[in-house]
Amino acid sequence: MSDLQTHISKLEGYVHRFKTSGIENLIDGESRPAAKGGKFETSSPVDNSLICEVAKGEASDIDDAAAAAKAAFPAWRDMPAKERKAILIRIAELIEERAEEIALCECWDTGQAFRFMSKAALRGAANFRFFADKVTSARDGQNLQSPTLMNVTTRTPIGPVGIITPWNTPFMLSTWKIAPALAAGCTIVHKPAEFSPLTARILAEIAHEAGLPKGVWNLVNGFGEEAGKRLTEHPDIKAIAFVGESRTGSLIMKQGADTLKRVHFELGGKNPVVVFDDADLDRALDAAIFMIYSLNGERCTSSSRLLIQKSVAKDFQKKLIERVNKIRVGHPLDPKTEVGPLIHEEHFNKVTSYFDIAKEDGATIAAGGKRIGDKGYFVAPTLVTNAKAQMRVAQEEIFGPFLTMIEFDTEEEALEIANGVEYGLSGYVWTNDLTRAIRFTEKLEAGMIWVNSENVRHLPSPFGGVKASGIGRDGGDWSFEFYMEQKNIAFALGDHAIPRLGV
Ligand code: NAD
Repeated sequence: MSDLQTHISKLEGYVHRFKTSGIENLIDGESRPAAKGGKFETSSPVDNSLICEVAKGEASDIDDAAAAAKAAFPAWRDMPAKERKAILIRIAELIEERAEEIALCECWDTGQAFRFMSKAALRGAANFRFFADKVTSARDGQNLQSPTLMNVTTRTPIGPVGIITPWNTPFMLSTWKIAPALAAGCTIVHKPAEFSPLTARILAEIAHEAGLPKGVWNLVNGFGEEAGKRLTEHPDIKAIAFVGESRTGSLIMKQGADTLKRVHFELGGKNPVVVFDDADLDRALDAAIFMIYSLNGERCTSSSRLLIQKSVAKDFQKKLIERVNKIRVGHPLDPKTEVGPLIHEEHFNKVTSYFDIAKEDGATIAAGGKRIGDKGYFVAPTLVTNAKAQMRVAQEEIFGPFLTMIEFDTEEEALEIANGVEYGLSGYVWTNDLTRAIRFTEKLEAGMIWVNSENVRHLPSPFGGVKASGIGRDGGDWSFEFYMEQKNIAFALGDHAIPRLGV
């Protein structure tokens, strides 16, 4: 049997239970259908076949989940840190045990290639381990002496929080938001993306199996405009951690205004990879290709704009076209596949619409620019050349295997193009001139920049964007700043003079 056939037969075993019973919500430790009985379907982007039915949670399901999260909060907050830590470690262990199941289900549900998803499942476990190690110090604060007072700061978890996740690498992203929330002592209501519900369910089951008390982690499936909206408006939900599109972030901010919701947003990007002529061009080529065509280009930190110095552009472009044309598009469960199908028809239509937009704007499709096959949502890895900075393909987040190449002459011009978009998530700079690297990264508008490297995530470092790419940071202690309240307590050191009125 080929690796693909082995994966398909294993997958069948894993999804059988979803096929027969569907996916229910998990509220207060209990698996439940949607209160109103609604359901929606999730299908595979490989061939559009039905995977299973999913409970379509609405406002009343969110209300039940928020009530459970509220009731569970005091005991979870007050549980000794070592006990909470042990549960998080157990979650990580169970993720590792079920990594293959998670990876196969994720690939089938989202179209992501197995070669990347097998690592994403393990990254999810690493997120739990990382934050498990931080549980015992999460509440630590500072001791700030003044002449008359000893100020002591402590941190307390903010309360029940809502976590809303997108469909791109949904498993990894869910762990990334949920692990620090639990480590901080918050309880959660998770609303995963409607296009990719499978692994969110597996993850919530794992958490309960690991001994998480009921009500600490509640899962409500459903659509953004109903379940998601209610979550952001719910008075008992103290904060919303959201990963998704910039315009949805803006909606959530409005929806949460009446309840003064604290928000953390990880939003879209149109990230530049800037290649100067003094760089190691072979490594820059590898990294530029990896950062836009891995994960089907459905990656917030993808380097979707290649800014290349004119003096080396011709040669770089030639090599790039050769490589892009050789990228292996195929079944996501085939370990050899490098690019799988796009998640959904809606998204496929969006990405492919940019083929005509590029041409209408006067750019050249140098590779790809077409769908592959007539079943599922496969798209040929696409490279657009002769693009100008103001073209739509150079400004808008396409979120597919679609690279726009723009040439520049000088460092100043490169900076102007790099910063000339509404987004500011990540940036990649390739140069062997140290002072240029320092100068350029100082002025590049992005929350995260890699110099002479692709995106390599280091969990203690801050993750997030500027401009329309987000508000707040994840990772290390930054996650706790969001999920926790700072409290300052001032103790008088003696009988300092108190201003006396009315004496
Ligand atoms: P999306 O904004 O359409 O949906 C994300 C989630 O929000 C889904 O669960 C959806 O149901 C929910 N939602 C939709 N409308 C809502 C509303 N009115 N109220 C509450 N919730 C609502 O995003 P998507 O298409 O699923 O994901 C792709 C986007 O996510 C891209 O823009 C990508 O760049 C971004 N993203 C950003 C990061 C980051 O770290 N910055 C990471 C991954 C993805």
